Parts: sequence; C-alpha cells; structure tokens
Amino acid sequence: MPERYETESRKLLRRLRDSLAEPGEGQERLDRITTIIADSMRTEVCSIYLFRDAETLELCATEGLKPEAVHQTRLRLGEGLVGRVARTAIPINTGDAPAAAGFRYMPETGEEVYSSFLGVPIQRLGERLGVLVVQSREAREFSDDEVYALEVVAMVLAEMTELGAFIGEGAALAAPHQRAVMLRGGSAQEGVAEGQVWLHEPRVVVTNPVADDPETERERLREAVGQLRLSVDEMLAVAPAHDKDQHEVLNAYRMFANSRGWLKRMEQDIERGLSAEAAVEKEQSAARSRLQMVPDPYLRERLHDLDDLSHRLLRILTGQGNDTGAEMPLNPVLVARNIGPGELLDYGQRLRGIVLEEGSVGSHAAIVARALAIPLVINADHITTEALNGDHILVDGTEGIVHLRPEESISAAFRDKMAMHAKAQERYKDLRDKPAQALCGTTIDLHMNAGLMADLPSLAGSGAHGVGLFRTELQFLISNKMPRRSELAAIYDRVLNAAQGKRVVFRTLDIGSDKVLPYLKPQDEPNPALGWRAIRVGLDRPGILRMQLQALIRASAGRPLTLMFPFVAQPEEFATARDHVMREMEREDRLGHPLPENLEIGAMLETPSLAFAPRQFFEMADFISIGGNDLKQFFFAADRENERVRRRYDTLSVSFLAFIQQIIARCAETGTPLSFCGEDAGRPIEAACFAALGLHSLSMRPASIGPVKHLIRRIDLNDLRATIKAEMGNGVQSVRPAVISWFSHNTADNGA
Ligand code: PEP
Ligand code: MG
Repeated sequence: MPERYETESRKLLRRLRDSLAEPGEGQERLDRITTIIADSMRTEVCSIYLFRDAETLELCATEGLKPEAVHQTRLRLGEGLVGRVARTAIPINTGDAPAAAGFRYMPETGEEVYSSFLGVPIQRLGERLGVLVVQSREAREFSDDEVYALEVVAMVLAEMTELGAFIGEGAALAAPHQRAVMLRGGSAQEGVAEGQVWLHEPRVVVTNPVADDPETERERLREAVGQLRLSVDEMLAVAPAHDKDQHEVLNAYRMFANSRGWLKRMEQDIERGLSAEAAVEKEQSAARSRLQMVPDPYLRERLHDLDDLSHRLLRILTGQGNDTGAEMPLNPVLVARNIGPGELLDYGQRLRGIVLEEGSVGSHAAIVARALAIPLVINADHITTEALNGDHILVDGTEGIVHLRPEESISAAFRDKMAMHAKAQERYKDLRDKPAQALCGTTIDLHMNAGLMADLPSLAGSGAHGVGLFRTELQFLISNKMPRRSELAAIYDRVLNAAQGKRVVFRTLDIGSDKVLPYLKPQDEPNPALGWRAIRVGLDRPGILRMQLQALIRASAGRPLTLMFPFVAQPEEFATARDHVMREMEREDRLGHPLPENLEIGAMLETPSLAFAPRQFFEMADFISIGGNDLKQFFFAADRENERVRRRYDTLSVSFLAFIQQIIARCAETGTPLSFCGEDAGRPIEAACFAALGLHSLSMRPASIGPVKHLIRRIDLNDLRATIKAEMGNGVQSVRPAVISWFSHNTADNGA
C-alpha cells in the first residue's frame, strides 16, 4: 500500500473524528465533513446523499456543487450514478462520468464540469443510509487505494454520525431497515401477538471507529481472531456427530475464521485508521450487502455464516454480551437465530411472541414455547438480519407469518384478528366448569398435556380433568447435567401437589430421536426417529429408568400414581418395564417408604405394531394412550419433523381413521381404557371425530380445551359417527370434506 494513502487516510479519519467531536448544528457539521473529505482526497467536490424515503435520495451536503442544490436535488433509487450506487451498494469509479451508463444530468448542481466520479455506499451492517461522492475536473479514474479510503470514510460516517438529523424537514431515513417486510415461516405454536422486537443477540455497539495506533489494533484483532478460532474448534468438538447440518455450518465457520483474506482485509482497514471493531464491522457490512445480491441459496447461507462469525468476533473484541443495557420493551417479541430451552425459560412468560430463523416444530425451544403458550414462528428466513431492536412486529403463530414494521392497514387487520381471538378465549372461559357433554348425552374427558411446572397453573384455569400426559423429559432436557433422584422427586411432588388430587399421567423419560440430552453421549444413528429412543433406552440403560421410577414412587408418598411408557413396539418391552416398576415398588417398601395408594401402568401406542399385539398385552396394560404424533408419522412413513411431508397426510383420511377404529375395538374387547394424547386431540374437528368414533378421553394443550369443548357441546356424536362411517364407505381418501360440510349444517348455536 503506498505510504502516502496510508498516512493520508489516517490523517483524514482523525480530522473527521475531531470535527465531529466539535459542537455545531447538524447541517454545519455535515458541511464541514464534506470540506474535510474534499480537501484530503484532493478533489474539487465531495457530496453526501442520504435516503429521504425508501425510494428517494437527497443531496444533503456538498463541497463544490452549487449550495442552492442542497436539499433540492433528489434522485430516485437506481437513477443516475448516485442512485445506482445506492441500489447496488457497489462503488462506481469512472474518469468520464457523463459517458458512464445511467448518468443523469442535473443542471441545478453545476456538476457538468466534473469529469471523474467516485461514489461509495454509506451503510451500516447492510442498512443503506446513503451515498458518499467525490468528483474532480481531471479526467482520471480513482486508484484502488482511493476507493478503499473513501469506503473507510463512509464506514466511519455511518458509525459516527446520526445521519437522520441531517435530512430535510420532516423526512425520515428509509433504508431497508425501515421498510415493511413480510416473512413466511413455519407454525410451531399457535396464537397471534403484537409487540416490539427484542433481539436475543442484539447488535454490538461500536463506539470507537477511529484508532490512532494501528499496531495495538492489529494485535487486538489477532488475539480476538485466535479466541474465535478456539471457540469454533470447541463448538465442533461438542457438536453431535449425527448432526450433519451443524457440522456443515461449523466447518464453514472454521473455514472463514481461518481465512487469510478475511484477516488481511481487516488489517488493511486498520492500517487506514479504523479500530479493530470498525474493521470487523466494515467487513460485515460488505458481506451483508453482497448477501442482498446473491441469488444462490448455498452462497447466501455461507454469507450468513460469515455474518454470524463477525458478530461473534465483535462480541469478543468489545466484551459486550447479550446485555447491552437496553431496556426490554413492554410487549417483547423475541427474535433469534435459534434459542435453547433453558434460555427461553429464563425469559419466561414475559414474551408476547417468538420468531426464530431456524428451529423445528419438535425442537426443545418449540416444546417450551408451547408449554408457555407463546406464539412461535420458526424458519423465518433472515429475520435476525432484517429486524432491529424495538421494531414494530406482528406474529401470527397459527399461519406462520411475521410482519415486520407493518403498514397501518396490516396492523389494523391484525388487531381485528387478535380481538376475535380474545373474544373466543372469553367465551371458552365461561365453559370452564361445564362438562364436554355432546348433545347426545355422551361426555368426553378432556385432559391437558404438560411438562413444566409453568404448565400447572393451567390445570385449574383450563377446566382440564387432569394431566393426560406429563412429558418428564423436559426436566432432563433443560438442565445441563443429569438431574438427581432427589431433585426429580421434589419436582414430581410439586406436580402432584399442584394437581390437587386430579390424575396426572407421568410418562417416563422419552429421549432419543430429536430429544438429545446434552450430557449423554450422542448416538450417531442413521435414522434417529427409528433408532435408540424412549423405552428402548430405558430398558438398555435401566439405571436411569429405575432412578426415575424411584423418584416417582417417592413423590407419590402414598398418593395414587399413574405411569406410562413411551414408544412401546412389542409386549415384551412393556412387560419388562412393568417388572422394573414392581421391583422398585418392593425396594421402596423395604426401605420403609410409603407406596402409592393406587398404581396404574399404561403403554403409549405410538408404533403400528402395538395395535396388532396379542390380546394378552391389552389385558396386561392398565390403560393405553395413543401418541398420535408418532403413530401418524410411522403409519404414513412421514417424518413429523420434516416440513415437506409432515402435513401431507390427513388425520381424517379413511385409512388412518380405520386404524384408530381398530385400536378402539381392540381396547373395547378387553375393557382397556383408551385415550389419545397427540397434537390432533387439540384440533376441534379431529377431536370431535375421534370422540364420535368412541375415543372418550383426549389429552391436549391447555389452550385447546376451550375450543374442543365448545365444539363438542354443540354436536350430536351419533350423527357425526353415522356421517363418518357412511363417508368411509364411499371410496373417498379423506372424510374431511364431508365432515366439514356436516359441521356447517349441524352445529347447534346454543351458546354452549
Ligand atoms: C406423541 O407422539 O403423540 C406424543 C404425545 O409424544 P411426543 O409428542 O412427546 O413424542
Ligand atoms: Mg411420541
């Protein structure tokens, strides 16, 4: 790098910094900046154009062009050379501006005498603020060093100045971060919410963009990059071997973290007078603007990785954690790339909604969001890049839609929807103490699914009969070490206390597949959903199962205890698990602990094979609960985690309903109580159809109890059954259309 530019550049940054530190009105300060830049760059003209709204740029200050053009000259995005720089975020450097493609002559500025033109974007992390231009009479192209120097200056401008203050009267900055954006993701927890963005990992604030001592800055940068490399290696070492996606991302991180080009570019920026932080941010900005140009999805993902890595590097350099001191807004909607269940629990019920860039319906975060009944949208592409803290945001967890900085008309429609929702909830509240009794007189027992202490207040509020499924794995998933027996016993005791005598069905540890315990060695399985999970782990590693059984028996302390085993595929598994329970009962008895007053041991029917088990199995089980989520994925061979296929097959298809009928009949033969506890039990139409077919005990999320009860109370189950059975014989694939039409004619609006 030629010595002249190195020193010139640093001198220029210092002058800028000093000038900005001086007091003065916005316009005066902006004018001073253009004078300093023109002087240092040895050009006749320096101008600053800023966005006035999303489509318009305005000349806000100039040295060299006619002063009367300031705040008068405007260009549309893409118009003229300045508009092109603004649109593409790529510098334009030409020795013959009037001949350059797209040149637009603006007589009021008097710029026709200037032949050479260099324009660079003023941007902050992909947020485009405007364009910085230098022009001179001499017909020459600017050197690479000069282009680079102007980019560094533009970076400092974006950082150091509150450019919004310089803009013409009443106009707001309208860079991409001010635009309304609609994102379509996946629905992971229903419900709607309105609030302000709260970034889980907020943008790091760089307060010192200019530095005097490049040697120190270089050293700081190298040290931070060293730390970053170590942390990436550590992440790779602990990443589960079977998680190929995570490995791919981390390997890309490692590649970038070790990239000589990346480090070299940042060192050059430091050489020009930027601080280490500002150098990282300049590279990050460049990556973000490239991101907006690249159509190739793979490359876009890699640029996102680079963005994430820069973010980590900034955190190391500035020592800024997630807590930047900003105050959480009144109605926070959490926006994050992804989040762990423990972190989500820390936020707790304060959140109105959650939007994740990644995530999956079965992820632990989704399970926790569901337990807390917070609307959750997953796979909202690039939300963390688009959203800024405090942005107005609407979350539709039911449809999987997010509106960021919405137009007023969208907000108004959304509020109508929220009001309807709230009204319906009010109506359901009135039903709380009424039975789910259909018009034909049959009463359906509605229970709730739970897994956290936070769920239990809903037991009273929702009108549930009891807890039909308590997922015990959540306690294991949210801690970073194996919980001890005494800890578990204390939790189960609190659950039973909160239930106040209502029945709680504890499901023993259901891990494996998507539920990986952080402290157990991950299994490298080709197909984890069909792999070593749930009761299979419990039987092969009886130590954990027995410890949990002891905790449950102790917690019952003489009260009734109801247990069920997940994912039973054949009778022997259930028989062996039962034997474990009996052995632990004897042991507890020997130790002098009171035994449960009454003990029920059930099996979850989640694999089709169990439906065809010998009669003796149905006699042995005290009850059976259909785990519809798993049962359906195995029945249709459609991964419940895979967005492409998970909605492909209808629960009300003739084949699935015929299968359910068969299970009902088999349980009826032996008098084995049967319930259903998958997600479908909480969908009113599905729930009503199950009830009509003879499934009289359903367990669902607390929020679904009201809607399901509301529908059941308005129908005659015998009529619905007759409709379903008739339609099943009609050769259709699904009874849904006929059932929906039946509902539209047969729901008595009796205010029930
Ligand atoms: C099910 O599979 O339907 C079920 C209730 O269990 P989980 O969703 O926890 O696998
Ligand atoms: Mg299951």
